[in-house]
Parts: sequence; structure tokens; C-alpha cells
Amino acid sequence: MTPPPDAAAAPFSAWYRCAEGCDFRAELTEVVYRCPRCQGLLEVEHDVAALRRRGPEEWKALFDQRYRRAPWPFGSGVWGKKEWVYPQLAAANVVSMAEGASPLLRLDGYAREIGLDEVWLKECGVTHTGSFKDLGMTVLVSAVKEMRARGRAIRAVACASTGDTSAALAAYCAADGIPSVVLLPRGKVTVAQLVQPIANGALVLELDTDFDGCMRVVQELSRTPDIYLANSMNSLRIEGQKTLSVELVQQLDWTVPDWVVIPGGNLGNASAVGRGFLLMRELGVIDRLPRLVVAQAEQANPLYRAVAAAGGRPSASLEVPPVTARKTLASAIQIGAPVSSRRALRALEALDGIVEQAGEQELADAAARADRHGAFSCPHTGVALAVLEKLAARGTIRRGERVAVISTAHGLKFSDFKVGYHEGTLPGLSSRLRNPSVPVAATLGAVQDAIARRFPAGGAR
Ligand SMILES: *Cc1c(COP(=O)(O)O)cnc(C)c1O
Ligand SMILES: [Zn+2]
Repeated sequence: MTPPPDAAAAPFSAWYRCAEGCDFRAELTEVVYRCPRCQGLLEVEHDVAALRRRGPEEWKALFDQRYRRAPWPFGSGVWGKKEWVYPQLAAANVVSMAEGASPLLRLDGYAREIGLDEVWLKECGVTHTGSFKDLGMTVLVSAVKEMRARGRAIRAVACASTGDTSAALAAYCAADGIPSVVLLPRGKVTVAQLVQPIANGALVLELDTDFDGCMRVVQELSRTPDIYLANSMNSLRIEGQKTLSVELVQQLDWTVPDWVVIPGGNLGNASAVGRGFLLMRELGVIDRLPRLVVAQAEQANPLYRAVAAAGGRPSASLEVPPVTARKTLASAIQIGAPVSSRRALRALEALDGIVEQAGEQELADAAARADRHGAFSCPHTGVALAVLEKLAARGTIRRGERVAVISTAHGLKFSDFKVGYHEGTLPGLSSRLRNPSVPVAATLGAVQDAIARRFPAGGAR
């Protein structure tokens, strides 16, 4: 039988290791973000031999048993898989807001419209702060709680953000009374994103720069060890985000999709998804890998450019020269110097990946098209959908194949984008699928006329 949650945690452990292959290692309670020897990013390494002592069927049964219901916090989509995330963390130090366990929608009408059979939308934005950033932030803030409990002086947790990271950081910190500082590029985040950290009591600083400028400042700032850095160069967040692959496979009854399509900005999430699949395969939970598609906005496409210049073949050794990110409706991925590009390239190489891009018109139309079939897509999800449509039209992704698109945020956080599209007021774009509201007189006749114009009698299918 499956052991109780906490007994399960005891025999497993994880630590930091240099992702570039030096022999640097550190405890997860150390304040360290880069390898002191080569300056490479770190990754969390697990004692896989210990994890393997439990068979795939046992893992699946344990995760299924906890899913959405086990004793707090194991019903969380992230903490239900605690042994694979941060096994030795004291359960009492988990700061959870019931993240993960997000819906997986099957979009049959949309799949048919774009010439495919099976498209699933993993709605990572249906969560406490409305984006997938909750998955990683719960791990990072829990780690901070553990460090503080052990007496480490952490004055505040800080991040640079295109909007969603700061919302998640502020909420999780507020949930445990931990001070947070967020650096936002002034005028480049939505009202909904700005008001979230304000409401949660963070120190909200708006800087006259872009995201890359905020990132430079926050990296300097976190040289002082009592300001803890919450950006995704911090690999604790990747560990939480990787559970999204596990959850996706779990929701597909422990089977693997043929393709996973994900929008990429700083590229932490694409790397995380790759890590999740690789760990599952290592532990025998799955026996094959999906192909990974990273979708970038044409306006902020450093990875796309680097891979295209290499003949379209992503490899871990590619350099990704920074670009100046131009304004895009997909504001959360308006990033020119992605911190996790090497991590993402490793994932792309391992998962036989593709990098493709989408323009503003394409992302806006793709979002609207999926919405017509019941979705409510944020612009970043629009980028992923537009890329999916391209790859389907090109015959790269074919009928009979099963595709999962990672939806990264809730559409309601980007209501200006959605309202602008349907009002036809997005600058430089034509709204081919717009569905503006219709002003009518407050009479039965006027309403009936409007209905008759839109849905002529006898037009029922
Ligand atoms: C952060 C974010 C992304 C990009 O994720 P990365 O890990 O930076 O590539 C995409 N969409 C939304 C809505 C985000 O908030
Ligand atoms: Zn190193």
C-alpha cells in the first residue's frame, strides 16, 4: 500500500548542482543562483536511484490518490508530487495556494477547424494568481520559509517581472507574511497584473526600462544575500513548474501526447516541461517523449533566430545572442535576453524540438479562433496556438496526432487585448474574427430583430 505522505518524503533528497557539468553542489537552503566556478545556472538534481526504488505503478497510484484531495498541502498539483520537487522540505514550511490541478480542455471543434484531430489545452492560468507562475513560486517561497525557519536572515524576496511573476511572488509571500519587492517595466504590464502585487502588499517599483533592464537591476540587488532572488534563473521555480508535464500526462490517463506546444519568453517554463518528461521517462512512468515546440513572438524572438540560423536544429551548444525585444501584445514574453536559453535548448534537443514564431496578427487571430470554440486565450497562448496552426498547415503536425498546448495565463488578465480585438481597435491589426457587442433599444422588438439578423430562422443545424 502507499505510505502516508510524510513517511514518503523521508528517504528522498535533492540538491543544487551546476547545470554546465562542473562538480559544484550545494544544499537547497543555500542562497546561491549560479555556479561559483563557471557562472553557469544551477539545476536541482534528485537522488534518482532512491526514486527508482519505487516502481512506476506505485508513483502513479500515489499521485492519483493525492490529486485534488489529499491532506493539506498534498492535494496541490505541485505538492502532491513533493518527492519529485523538494523531498526534504518540512511539510510545515510549505506555502501553498492550491496551485496546479488545472483543467485540461479538449478542443475538438478547434482541432477540426485547423485540420487536426486531437488538441488539448492545459489551462495553467486557471490558478490562484491566474498564470502558471504559481507552480514555481510555491516552491520558491516555501524554500524561503524553510530558510527563515532555520535562522537565515532574508529581509525580502525580489523579482523582475513582465507581470505574472510579480503577481505570484506577492501572493505567496503575503500568504506567509514574507516581505516582497517587485520590479516592473513601467507601462508594459496590464492593469490586472499591476494591481495584484499592489493588493498583496508588495513593494511595487515601476522602472523606466523594459523587462531586461529590470532583470539587470534585480540581479545586482540580489548580490546582497538578505535579498533573495525569485526570478526563474532560480532553479527552485523550475522544479515546481516541471510538475505541469507530470500532471498533463496524469490527466491523459498516464499516456504521452505526441506534441507539446508552449510559448517561450525567458524560457524557464519550456525547460521545466522538458525536465518533467525526462524525469518521468527515467523513472519508467512513461516510455516515450513528446516532441516539444517552443513558440516565440516574432517581436521578441532571440531563440527562434538562433535556431533558424542553425538550420532549424536546436542543440545545447547553440549561442543565443540577445535582441532588443520589441513591443508585442504578448507582453509577458517581451524578453530579448532569455536567462534560461541554454536550459531550453537542452530540453529541445532531448525532446526533438522545434522553435517557431508568430506575428501579432497571427497570435491575435489564433486566440480569437480558439475562443470561438470555448477557450478564453491570453495573447501568449495565442502565440502557441498560432504556431500550432502553422505547423498543422505545413504538415509537420498531422491528423491522428495528439497535441497539448500549454495555456500560460488566464485571458481575464489581458482584457485590454481581448476587448481591443473585438472592438477592432488594436493598432495595426485587422480583427477578422471580431464579435462586437450590438447596442439595441430596450424593447422586445429590437432584441428579436437583432437575434433574427444574427441567427436567421431555419438556420439551425
Ligand atoms: C512568464 C510567462 C510566459 C513565459 O514563460 P518563460 O518561462 O519566461 O518562458 C508565457 N506566458 C505567460 C502568461 C507568462 O506569464
Ligand atoms: Zn559550473
